[in-house]
Amino acid sequence: MAKQNETPTAQKDSSQLRQKNMLAEHFTKLAEAPETGAKSAYTFVPGNMTELLLTFDMLPVLPEINALQSAMRGKSRDYIAVAEKLGHSEDVCTYVKSDIGMLKSGNIGPTGQRLPEPNLLLLSYTGCFTFMKWFELLREEYDCPVVMIHVPYQGEGEVTDSMRQYVVDQIRQKHIPTLEKITGKSYDEDRVKECLARSAQAEDDLVWVLQSAKNKPSPIDAYFGGVYYIGPIFSAFRGTQGAVEYYRALRVETEERLRLGKGPVTPDGELTEERYRIVVEGPPNWTNFREFWKMFADEGAVVVASTYTKVGGVYDFGFRHDPSRPIETLADYCMGCYTNLNLPSRVEMLASYVRDYQADGFLINSIKSCNSFSAGQLHILREVENRVGKPGGFIESDLVDPRYFSAANIKNRLESYFQMIEQRKLGGGAA
Ligand code: SF4
Repeated sequence: MAKQNETPTAQKDSSQLRQKNMLAEHFTKLAEAPETGAKSAYTFVPGNMTELLLTFDMLPVLPEINALQSAMRGKSRDYIAVAEKLGHSEDVCTYVKSDIGMLKSGNIGPTGQRLPEPNLLLLSYTGCFTFMKWFELLREEYDCPVVMIHVPYQGEGEVTDSMRQYVVDQIRQKHIPTLEKITGKSYDEDRVKECLARSAQAEDDLVWVLQSAKNKPSPIDAYFGGVYYIGPIFSAFRGTQGAVEYYRALRVETEERLRLGKGPVTPDGELTEERYRIVVEGPPNWTNFREFWKMFADEGAVVVASTYTKVGGVYDFGFRHDPSRPIETLADYCMGCYTNLNLPSRVEMLASYVRDYQADGFLINSIKSCNSFSAGQLHILREVENRVGKPGGFIESDLVDPRYFSAANIKNRLESYFQMIEQRKLGGGAA
C-alpha cells in the first residue's frame, strides 16, 4: 500500500477556494435571475459557446454538471427514481434521469438554490444522440426557443473547410440572431474577441498543469484531481477573468509541488509514493467518487492522463480559441471536442498518452448507461494494447446511479490489474 501523509481535514489550496467561490457566486446569480431579470441558457458541456453567451450577459446552466453535482451530494438516487416512475427506462443515460428528476422535484440545483427556467435551450450537437433527446424532453417543459447547432462528426478524423463553414453559418444565421432577440442586445464582436483571448490564456495554463503529469513523480492526478481542474473551463467560466486567475493560481501551485517533488493530493492526503502511472478512458463514477479515488490512491496509482478531461475541449494537442477569427474558432472548438472524435482518433489519443506520459498501463471505466461512449471500448482496449504493449484494464460502473457502483467488484478488479502491472514491471511475463 502506498504511503500517504494523513491529513484528515485537508487544507484547501487557494485555487480550490477560488473555484468554490466562483461556483457559489454563479449559482446565486442563477437563483436571483427571476428578480434581476438575468437571462439564462441551458446548454451542454461539449461544444458549449460560453463566450458568446457571456457577451450577451446570459448565464449558462449545464445540466450534466448539475447531475454530477447532485450525485456527489447523494441526491441523484432519488431523482433517478422520480424519472423512472415517470416512465424513463433503466437504460436511459442517468445524467438525463437525474436532471429530469431534479426538475420534477422543484429544480433545486446542487447548492440548494432554485435554478431559473431557461430563456434558451442551446444544443451544440457534438457526437451524442442523447443530448438531442434530452432537450426534446426539456422542450416539453419550458416555453422558450431551442437552437440546435449541428456539428459535423469527425468521421474521417479531420475538420474540413466546408465542415467549418457549415457550423459558422449556423452560428451567424441561427444562434446569434436568437441571442439578439432574447436579450435585446446586439452582437459585439470586439467583446467576443476579448473573451476568447481570456479563454486562450486560461487554456495555456490548464494544458501546462495537465502536462506536468509527464514528470516523475507526477505532481497531479489528471483524472480525480483533473475533474476539479477542468471545472471552470468546461462550465460557465471560460472567457472570464475569474477563469484566467483560477488557472494561473492552479499553475503556480502545481509549479510549487513540482519544485518540491511532491505527488498529488488525494482524499487521504498527499501521495508520497507513486507506484503505478495509469491512463484512464471514460468518466469517473460520481456517486462514490472519493471511494473510487481512494481505491487508486491506496495502491499508489496515479492517473497521469485521461480522456474525460477532454470532453469539453481538447487543448493539449495545440488547439486554442483564437480571437482573430472568433466564429471560426468556436466552430473548430465544437468539432474538436473529445465526444466528436471517431474511434481511431480516440485510440490514437490514448496510445499517445501512454507513450508520452510513460504510463504503466491504461484503464477503461465503462459507463453502463452511456451508450454513446461504451460502444467500441473493448475494441479500443485491444487496439491500444497492441500499439503500446502495455496492459489494459476494464471496469464498469455508472455516472450518477449508485445502484451500479459495486465497490467490492471494482476493488477486486483494480487490485488484480495493479498486480498484473507489477508482474510486468518485474519482468514476470505475460499478463
Ligand atoms: S455522452 Fe453518455 S453520459 Fe453524456 S449525455 Fe451522452 S449518453 Fe449521457
